[in-house]
Amino acid sequence: MLQDTYNRPLRDLRISVTDRCNYRCTYCMPFDEYAWIPRAEVLTYEETARLAQIFLGLGAEKIRLTGGEPLARKNLEVLIRKIAPLAGLKELCLTTNGAYLAEKAAALKSAGLVRLNVSLDTLEPEKFRRLTKRGELGPVLEGLEEAKRLGFRPIKLNAVIERGVNEEEILPLAEFARARGFAIRYIEYMDVGNANDWNLAKVVSKKQILAALGARFQLREKGRQEPGAPAVDYEYEDGGGEVGIIASVTEPFCGACARARLTADGKLVTCLFADHGHDLKSLVRIGASDEEIRKDIEAVWQARRDRYSEERFVALNASRYQPREHSKMEMIVLGG
Ligand code: SAM
Ligand code: SF4
Ligand code: SF4
Repeated sequence: MLQDTYNRPLRDLRISVTDRCNYRCTYCMPFDEYAWIPRAEVLTYEETARLAQIFLGLGAEKIRLTGGEPLARKNLEVLIRKIAPLAGLKELCLTTNGAYLAEKAAALKSAGLVRLNVSLDTLEPEKFRRLTKRGELGPVLEGLEEAKRLGFRPIKLNAVIERGVNEEEILPLAEFARARGFAIRYIEYMDVGNANDWNLAKVVSKKQILAALGARFQLREKGRQEPGAPAVDYEYEDGGGEVGIIASVTEPFCGACARARLTADGKLVTCLFADHGHDLKSLVRIGASDEEIRKDIEAVWQARRDRYSEERFVALNASRYQPREHSKMEMIVLGG
């Protein structure tokens, strides 16, 4: 079995299908202008599906399509139709900001997608505008209703909680999700990329999120779905559904991290906080065989030593962590 230097297998593949996005979330890509990946450098759907198949042959079982905003890429259903039936794939999921979901949900569903993660950090229209800089809450809520009507399952909400911005949304979001049968995952604010001006004081910790939920709900811990899963899951004792918390700052989980990322321009990235990727597109475009590409991926994975969040945790505890000393790839490029 393929393993990295800490004996971690490659189980999850996150594919960023575009670095472009119709929002400018303050915690992710706060600037107005970015130097986008030139279109000619973006993998075609044929190239992406071929690489996906090779990753599945190396032990990957789950694929998440992300970005940037994946639904900002034209005809994403064409890619889904190619990936959904691939041998070895146990789970295919899409993470989206939901802005185009109402119009695209039916095409995605008939192409073979059933699992959805929709980002939603507030239920207040004005705050939603401020947080996303360009987004409107209404279409996201419509998209969620349409996805539910079409039978997507599970539908999970992703909420990044940032102090001074939306910590008072923890309970309203939980109630919204419970009432509609959506699962919800709260995400600790992370220092992804180089632009979001992160500092520890802005992080609402897993413990604090649980305390906020505990003021109204009784929760029972279920643990991680599997060892490498980012979220620790909880269920409401009254049977009201499920809550997950992704605590990569206060309870890092690098030890079992089995996630590989493929950028829109075909780079293999072995950590969310990496400063570079490994070019696979050139191999694909010079006509390398599947076996040659497979060997190349194997060599990168076998040399993998990433454990950024654990190292940050140690440095934070010693009060010597300076996020700006670490140059990272932007999250929109490598896929959240
Ligand atoms: N555009 C899609 C979306 O927003 O769902 C997919 C890409 S986005 C980069 C993937 C996830 O990363 C989203 O749920 C987003 O909230 C999360 N994210 C972005 N910046 C983050 C940050 N600084 N800390 C924690 N999560 C973040
Ligand atoms: Fe776009 Fe998603 Fe980043 Fe927001 S979190 S700016 S929607 S890629
Ligand atoms: Fe995996 Fe890197 Fe996140 Fe650690 S910091 S869990 S190695 S992606």
